[in-house]
Amino acid sequence: MTSTERRTTTRVVRTRAELREGLADVPRPLGLVPTMGWLHAGHRSLMQRARADDATAIATIFVNPRQFNEAADFQRYPRNEARDLAICEEEGVDLVFAPGVDEVYPPGFDTVVSVGAVARPLEGAARPGHFDGVATVVAILFDLIAADHAYFGQKDAQQVMVIRQMARDLAIPTEVIACPTVREPDGLALSSRNVHLDPAERAAAPVLRRALVAARDRWAAGERSGDALRQAMRAVVAEEPLATPAYVSVADGRTLAELDRVVDGGPALLSLAARFGSTRLIDNEPIG
Ligand code: AMP
Repeated sequence: MTSTERRTTTRVVRTRAELREGLADVPRPLGLVPTMGWLHAGHRSLMQRARADDATAIATIFVNPRQFNEAADFQRYPRNEARDLAICEEEGVDLVFAPGVDEVYPPGFDTVVSVGAVARPLEGAARPGHFDGVATVVAILFDLIAADHAYFGQKDAQQVMVIRQMARDLAIPTEVIACPTVREPDGLALSSRNVHLDPAERAAAPVLRRALVAARDRWAAGERSGDALRQAMRAVVAEEPLATPAYVSVADGRTLAELDRVVDGGPALLSLAARFGSTRLIDNEPIG
């Protein structure tokens, strides 16, 4: 199917009933892009992948209160639905599910989907309850939408692993597909939270990428010690006074257990988190 043949009017649905009706008889395969809105080129890349690989593309826009471990972070999360819908339209998304909180979590809702080991370190340790909120909402969306494919950003590498585990364990057949991180020209990974950075913080934020690249270069040059690679990242972040580091990690790419040594042939994940003022950013780089 070429793009000119494709229907580009995006239909917006807000209730489970409208969603069911909107999905009845759509051409398959169906590709899903879950988002919290304030869409940027990273989200666009996921939509483009869904459009390329699937006959029907659906995006969801829902700022999920259950995945925010800080109420203030939820309150100030950026929102602009009109702009988001225009972007979905530009990207040829067929259907947008933009529900209210009660539509996702109806009154009396009382279940938590809690993934085990892979959800515990890194973001799981830094943000208690975060991955319970993510796994719960994505399980609901997977169930309601029954997509063939769901596209997620490698930028949130641990999130992809948590969702894969959840879908496998709950026997949800939607295939979880990780897509490359989209970056600004200076290396900063696109994030809805970047809007909160003041100009000095914005100028400082690419230090995350530089730290990952420094460690990746050390690894490519033969360094296999986890401590040495973690130290390489710490040293770069320490040069940036506006960055307050949270963690640096060299972990097994399948389990996220911290590594003493990076084993050749097994995937590993370099990752880190830091605050710039009140804004917390994360980034990662797979190696091996
Ligand atoms: P969010 O709206 O932040 O929950 O993100 C929705 C989806 O977009 C998630 O799968 C993210 O991993 C993905 N995403 C966010 N930022 C980027 C990026 N810079 N590159 C690629 N995907 C991204």
